[in-house]
Amino acid sequence: MDSSVSGFYKKSLEERIAIIKEAGQLTEEETAQLKKFAALDFEQANRMIENVIGVQQLPIGIATNFVVNGKDILIPMAIEEPSVVAAACNGARIARALGGFKSKASAPIMIGQIQIVNAEKGAEKKILKAKKELLEKANSMDKTLKKFGGGAKELKAEELKTQKGKMVIVQLLVDVRDAMGANAINTMCEAIAPKLEEISKGKVFLRIISNLAIHRTVKAKAVFSKKALEESFKGKIRGEEIVEAMLNAYAFAEADVFRACTHNKGIMNGIDAVGIATGQDFRAIEAGAHCYASWKNKGEYKPLTKYYKNEKGDLIGEIELPLAIGLVGGATRTHPIAKTCVKILGVKTANELAEIMACVGLANNAAAIRALAVEGIQKGHMKLHARNIAVIAGAQGKDIEDVAEKMINENNVKVDRAKEILGEKN
Ligand code: NAD
Repeated sequence: MDSSVSGFYKKSLEERIAIIKEAGQLTEEETAQLKKFAALDFEQANRMIENVIGVQQLPIGIATNFVVNGKDILIPMAIEEPSVVAAACNGARIARALGGFKSKASAPIMIGQIQIVNAEKGAEKKILKAKKELLEKANSMDKTLKKFGGGAKELKAEELKTQKGKMVIVQLLVDVRDAMGANAINTMCEAIAPKLEEISKGKVFLRIISNLAIHRTVKAKAVFSKKALEESFKGKIRGEEIVEAMLNAYAFAEADVFRACTHNKGIMNGIDAVGIATGQDFRAIEAGAHCYASWKNKGEYKPLTKYYKNEKGDLIGEIELPLAIGLVGGATRTHPIAKTCVKILGVKTANELAEIMACVGLANNAAAIRALAVEGIQKGHMKLHARNIAVIAGAQGKDIEDVAEKMINENNVKVDRAKEILGEKN
């Protein structure tokens, strides 16, 4: 399969679905479900959360051009924001010229925390002495995880000074394999709590996963060649100039927290969109990513990506972040569209999915700084935005395009102006 499907954006829904069907080996039922534009019925939704009264829908777009670890992949992205899917395609197209992305996930080790209050002096040491027994107890709670090679692997105990006095915090390190891991870890933490109370003579309060998944990270890298960058502007701007402009954009984010925050938001545009499409807990992903952006740099919030030039003057982009995502549990196995999206991606393990997601984040980030540094974001963004504004003002059919174009030409994209233009037309 070649993911650089030419003119995907110009194809009809039928044609796009036919491509996806073949690439993901989807069944008739799965493609019919996509075409329905309605994912969940009341019974399914009511099983997922409480007090259900309806469903919220987001469009799913396909990001083309991705090559990850030598494999062509079509990537489903669910998002409400215009231009994110296009940016991912763009970043991936530029990276593709020199082989695409290389990506590697660490072992899927998550941290569970157990808070002990009023522990006796030296409790940490006593807890560590009972490590083997505690790990065995934790592992007895999840035979399935153990069977797949996962399970509780390590236990740490440290004193923590807090505004309410000293506490002992136990960390349980668990290899969660293809799960996001929250339920699995919370269950283990709860199971070892009575023993911890017995050993420490204290009282256990919180027993919960940490979303700062420092042991479950992904690193990805791509070369954005100056030639491909130049071609992306149809040769109108020199490749060297584009590389320098992008490095300036990165230097800004590296030195300034206000810019770093938005820089990372651009990365998460892509990562969240794949996360939502595949039914992930995107709040967990977001919390982990932003916290890591400062934890990694001794409390100073920094960009999650890095850019530098190689000896040929091409731009190298790198990303590193924690990605606590899963293919079992959560909505990934229960939401029919999420299941189909996983199938389109062709991933069999959570690590493979994490590796792809990191690349999408890097692609989106590279495309964003390219656009911001060189052409200004508004040009690309405004077209879709103007169409939305025209629809909000009541435009229908051909009027949508006419009103949008007029507003863009006037550089005045506002609902009031759209209403005026509509009034003038009719
Ligand atoms: P889960 O408990 O539904 O599924 C994980 C279980 O699946 C494992 O414990 C294991 O027994 C089994 N399993 C089968 N095959 C497996 C495989 N190949 N690899 C790993 N496990 C396998 O889900 P979970 O991932 O433990 O929890 C995820 C859910 O927890 C999400 O819905 C998330 O929103 C929610 N949650 C998150 C937080 C948080 O992030 N702070 C807190 C509470 C709950």
